[in-house]
Amino acid sequence: MKKDNCIFCKIANGEIPSTSIYEDDYFKVILDLGPATKGHALILPKDHAADLFELPEDTAAKAMVLAKKLGKQMVENLKADGMNLVQNNGEAAGQTVQHFHLHLIPRYKDDNQHILWNPGEVSKEEMEEIKNTIQQK
Ligand code: 5GP
Ligand code: ZN
Repeated sequence: MKKDNCIFCKIANGEIPSTSIYEDDYFKVILDLGPATKGHALILPKDHAADLFELPEDTAAKAMVLAKKLGKQMVENLKADGMNLVQNNGEAAGQTVQHFHLHLIPRYKDDNQHILWNPGEVSKEEMEEIKNTIQQK
């Protein structure tokens, strides 16, 4: 099901042109317009889901299988040295388009990109408390 005024629904269903590197019944995979590196691509489900939490389980599973297959092909053919999978959920996490997408970002030695975080600190007691919070029903 498509959502009105969703740009990735329109791209995934061919209403807005894109450079597509793969397509099947469930997904369109396009090159990102603002690539982090050469070959940066986005896996877009054709049915609208705002984020991972709205995505049906079977589509989520298929997206990861596709990432594995296509990612390997991209690394080999682009002669990349590695690949980051990035998937943002919510504005606080950096999501700017509210239609689920999985970033495939080929990485090259010395590509000068940084998909990192600053390691913080946590005590054993805090970890225990966090664990209990996550697991509460
Ligand atoms: P997010 O920050 O939501 O995880 O990622 C959104 C991504 O979509 C960004 O990397 C951005 O460059 C890309 N993007 C946004 N609009 C378009 C578009 O119209 N076409 C393509 N190909 N990529 C887009
Ligand atoms: Zn959409």
